[in-house]
Amino acid sequence: MTQVLDGFAALDLHPNILAAVIATGYEEPSAIQLQAIPVILAGHDMIGQAQTGTGKTAAFALPILSRIDVSKRQPQALILAPTRELALQVATAFETYAKQMPGLNVIAVYGGAPMGPQLKAIRNGAQVVVATPGRLVDHLRRDEKVLSTIQHLVLDEADEMLKLGFMDDLEVIFKAMPETRQTVLFSATLPHSIRTIAEKHLRDPKHVRIETKTQTVTAIEQAHLLVHADQKHAAVLRLLEVEEFDALIAFVRTKQATLDLAAVLEARGYKAAALNGDIAQNQRERVIESLKDGRLDIVVATDVAARGLDVPRITHVMNVDMPYDPESYVHRIGRTGRAGRTGRALLLVTPRERRMLQVIERVTGQKVSEVRLPDGQQVLDARIKKLTSSLAPLVADAEASHGELLDRLTAEIGCSPRALAAALLRKATNGQALTLAEVEREQPLVPTSAPRERSERSSERSDRGDSRERRAPVPLAEGRARCRTALGARDGIAAKNLLGAILNEGGLVREAIGRIQVRESFSLVELPEDGLERLLSKLKDTRVGGKPLKLRRYRED
Ligand code: AMP
Repeated sequence: MTQVLDGFAALDLHPNILAAVIATGYEEPSAIQLQAIPVILAGHDMIGQAQTGTGKTAAFALPILSRIDVSKRQPQALILAPTRELALQVATAFETYAKQMPGLNVIAVYGGAPMGPQLKAIRNGAQVVVATPGRLVDHLRRDEKVLSTIQHLVLDEADEMLKLGFMDDLEVIFKAMPETRQTVLFSATLPHSIRTIAEKHLRDPKHVRIETKTQTVTAIEQAHLLVHADQKHAAVLRLLEVEEFDALIAFVRTKQATLDLAAVLEARGYKAAALNGDIAQNQRERVIESLKDGRLDIVVATDVAARGLDVPRITHVMNVDMPYDPESYVHRIGRTGRAGRTGRALLLVTPRERRMLQVIERVTGQKVSEVRLPDGQQVLDARIKKLTSSLAPLVADAEASHGELLDRLTAEIGCSPRALAAALLRKATNGQALTLAEVEREQPLVPTSAPRERSERSSERSDRGDSRERRAPVPLAEGRARCRTALGARDGIAAKNLLGAILNEGGLVREAIGRIQVRESFSLVELPEDGLERLLSKLKDTRVGGKPLKLRRYRED
C-alpha cells in the first residue's frame, strides 16, 4: 500500500502477525520497535531501556509471536510483569497481535484468581504465558516442570518487579527454565540490581534504547494534563472550549483514533477532519488547504500523516495520545510556533505514562507544567466571552438598521425589548448550555490528577500518623495490598519498628513496602499483593517490641 506500511513490512515479521498489526491500525513502527524487533527476531538476548508509552509491548510481542511454533501445544514464551494489571494488558496485546494465528493461545497468570484453571490452561498448551512472579512461583511449587519448554523469556518493567520485592522469585523462575532460552529484559531505568540480573542471566545481550539527544524547542508554551485513557475525548472537548486557538492539530496513534476523534469534534460543531496514512494524497492536500484557508480549524492526525505539514495558522498542538519518543514530541509541537509566532502545546498524560513525560522534559530541557482540566465555570465563562465578542461589533449600528423592526416586533408580540432580546439570544445560541448547571450536566466533570495516582509513590511517605488522615480513605497503589496488625502507638510501636521487622524477616527490599500508618491501637502497612500469602506466613511468628505482629490482610469493607 503506502510507503508507510513498508516500515512494518520491512521487519521480517511472520506474515500473519504483520497482517494483524496492519489491521490494528498502526502506521509505522515506533523507535523502540524499529530497533528491538530485528534483535529479538534474530534470537539475541536483549536489554531494552524503554518506558510505557514507547510501544515496548509490541516491540517484544511481535517478534516473539513470529517465532512461536503454533503446532506445538506447549508453553514457549513467558512474559513476567510486575502487576496483575500489566500482566492482563500484555496478555491482551499478545491476543490482539495473534488474532490471525489460529491455534495460538495466551494465558495470564496472576494472584487473586484460582490456581487450578491457570495451571490447566498452561498444561493444555497455551504457547504464551504472561505472569506475575509471585503467582508463577506458586505454580512451580505444584509442578516444577511447568516452565521446562520455555524458549523466550521477557522481563517487562524489570525495575518495577524489583521494587515490588520479586528478586527471590525471579531467581526461582530463572532456574526452572532451559538455559538455552532467549532472555529479553525491559526496564525504564537500569539500576545496579538490574545490571546484576542481566550479567547473571543474559547471554551477550544487545542494548537497545531510544536515543535522546537534547532538542531545542522555542516559542512554544507547553503544558500537560493528567487524564484517564477513557476520558480523553471529554478532556479534549473541555480544553477546546477554553483554549483560544486559531487552527489546531490533534495527534493520536492510530487511524481509527483519527476517525473517532474527528467524528466527536464534528458532532460538537467544530470544523474538523481526520488525516491518516489511508487518506489518498489528493484528499490529504485538500485537507491541508482547507486548514490553511480556514474551512477547517482542527485536523486530527497520526505522526506519519502530519509529516511535513506546515500551516502558519496552527496556534495549538494537542497531543491526545503520547508520542512514542521525545523526538516525535518535538516534531509534533514544531507544527505550531511557525514563522516566529508563539504556539501552545498541550499533552494528555495517562497515569502510566508519567515517566514518559519526565523523559520528554529531560530531553527538551524544559518543564512541561501541569494544568488542570477547565471546570464548568471556566467553560461557561469562555462561552459567554465568545458570545460577547461575536455580538459586540454588531451593537454599534444595529439600532440604526434594525431599530424600527424591533419597535414593530415588540408592539406586535406585545413584549418588552428585553424579552425579545432574550428570545433572539436563545435562537442565536441554538440550545447551547449557558448556565452553570446546564454546562455541568452536559459535560460531567472529568477528575484530573486523581489522588489515587498521586499516592502511587506512597512508599516515600511512610510514617505520618496524624489524626487528620484517620478517616480519609487512602487509596492503594497498584499491586499493593493493605495489611493490619493490632500493634499500635499504645504498644510503643513506631513505623520504623514495623518497617525493620518486615524487611528483616520478610526478606523484602525497602521499595516493596508502601505506606505505614501507625494508629493508637493498630497499624496499617502496604505490601505487595503478589506473593502476599507467602509473605504473611513467613512473618507469622515475627514479634515487634516483644509482641506478636500477627499481620493480616485488611479489608475496609
Ligand atoms: P506500550 O508502550 O507498549 O505500553 O504501548 C503504548 C500504546 O501504543 C499501546 O496502546 C499500543 O497499542 C500503542 N502502539 C504500540 N505500537 C504502536 C504503533 N507502532 N503504532 C501505533 N500505536 C502503537
